[in-house]
Amino acid sequence: MVDTGLLHRAEYLPNLEKMRQMGVEEWVKYEEERWRCSQCGVPLSWYDAKCVRCGEPRSERLFPLTNDRSAADQ
Ligand SMILES: [Zn+2]
Repeated sequence: MVDTGLLHRAEYLPNLEKMRQMGVEEWVKYEEERWRCSQCGVPLSWYDAKCVRCGEPRSERLFPLTNDRSAADQ
């Protein structure tokens, strides 16, 4: 009996692999840093296309703001 469910999951959640490699605590810090405004340091949420305080656009390095991605997430 082949467990294909695990393979599926690994592809679906690539972050899990990174989390495992870094360790959860390091990964959380990394994610927090990643989601800060590069200008004023305010934490950004997934839904913020730009900083709520200074209006600096969210870094393209996080996730490209494409319609394709949001459509795929629905
Ligand atoms: Zn800002």
